[in-house]
Amino acid sequence: NVRVRFCPSPTGNPHVGLVRTALFNWAFARHNGGTMVFRIEDTDAARDSEESYTQLLDSMRWLGLDWDEGPETGGPHEPYRQSQRMDIYRDVAEKLKAGGYAYECFCTAVELEARRDAARLAGKPSGYDGTCRNLPAERIARYKEEGRPAIVRFRMPDEPITFTDLVRGELTFTPDNVPDYGIVRANGAPLYTLVNPIDDALMEITHVLRGEDLLSSTPRQIALYKALIELGIAQQIPAFGHLPYVMGEGNKKLSKRDPQANLNLYRERGFLPEGLLNYLSLLGWSFSADQDVFSIQEMVEKFDISEVNANPARFDLKKAEAINADHIRMLDVKAFTEACRPWLQAPHAAWTPEQFDESRWQAIAPHAQTRVTVLSDITANVDFLFLDAPVEDEASWTKAMKEGSDALLRTAREKLEAADWSSADSLKEAVLAAGEAHGLKLGKAQAPVRVAVTGRTVGLPLFESLEILGREKTLARIDAALA
Ligand code: GLU
Repeated sequence: NVRVRFCPSPTGNPHVGLVRTALFNWAFARHNGGTMVFRIEDTDAARDSEESYTQLLDSMRWLGLDWDEGPETGGPHEPYRQSQRMDIYRDVAEKLKAGGYAYECFCTAVELEARRDAARLAGKPSGYDGTCRNLPAERIARYKEEGRPAIVRFRMPDEPITFTDLVRGELTFTPDNVPDYGIVRANGAPLYTLVNPIDDALMEITHVLRGEDLLSSTPRQIALYKALIELGIAQQIPAFGHLPYVMGEGNKKLSKRDPQANLNLYRERGFLPEGLLNYLSLLGWSFSADQDVFSIQEMVEKFDISEVNANPARFDLKKAEAINADHIRMLDVKAFTEACRPWLQAPHAAWTPEQFDESRWQAIAPHAQTRVTVLSDITANVDFLFLDAPVEDEASWTKAMKEGSDALLRTAREKLEAADWSSADSLKEAVLAAGEAHGLKLGKAQAPVRVAVTGRTVGLPLFESLEILGREKTLARIDAALA
């Protein structure tokens, strides 16, 4: 039985790298009929926040990445918040010490730094040098008497550690590269290095899929796992797969603080969860050589961790938008019409609920669906239907209203007045004829009409827009532009 975990720390805004990790774990679990465990790694009281915790759950739900065990859902390994599991960690830390797998280290920060500098100068490995590894009992007693603070350090085995990464193949770490490391702070607070593998063991995780930034902690965790197995706490070492880095602008690693990385931004702009997930799945994986757009269900059916590429993936906002636009086109009209609701109201929309007209919205929605990239685009595209007067987008007015456009508008008004308002084609004919009268092609002729009526040079198909706005309002707006 496949058991994976998504175990973020609730610090700051959820970011796209984190979502990619959640998605790959979830797709792997769903593909294999396995179990998705959601665990909150909130052992760092200084950095964790309740707000971020709430946001994480909310984001996962918005994305549709459901979990089988975890916060609010519960499960056989409750609790799923590490801040509520401190007794477990304390107990295991004691067992590790008692079994000789870990030891108390009394080195002070100043001492550590001095020795690290000396090692560097001498060209030697600069990790922990093992000073407290085998302290005589009297020394330990003396340090304690002096009240020297001690951290707990895990004793790394002296032989190399080899494992087969699901993405990168076989990897070997030599002892020089993986020195003894801290697992409990001097104040008794257990560290990530300890609590993460303990919980993976207790929650019977079979596959650990996570970012490449955590690759260096894997040999440590495997060594700790071996100790946990010997102590009867763990059953088996999970398989590990490290997902490639995500690169942002200028080929630098996309950092959490990069505004492009903030998940909330995509949500606020009106990305569809399935569009965003589709794009994020391509960061390190590919569906097929000639298909970039697919449903989440299709992704689940095809997802294979061994196909994930170890090379860094480049985050490309333009591509994310294009894929999202494709997903918008794929919705049925009714789903699209409903998905836009938030953007048809304050604070996005400048019109009041009284000004909003449902039948006009229903009529324009199919046209909007073929044009928008993100749902928030909808607001500016339909405001001409609901506001009493078109917006005054100065750049548009300057661009479209040139010498001669008054004359053109006057002719267009005449022809439109006489047109058949039950057909967009007839309105098009009217503007076409007005253009001909002034020696203008349709494109040039319709620009002033569009700006007079909608306030902008770009927007939804013009003649359908005029038809939906109606004869009276259209003519009144042209009059206003001519006044
Ligand atoms: N809480 C860790 C993080 O957010 C989890 C890392 C892991 O997947 O092991 O970085």
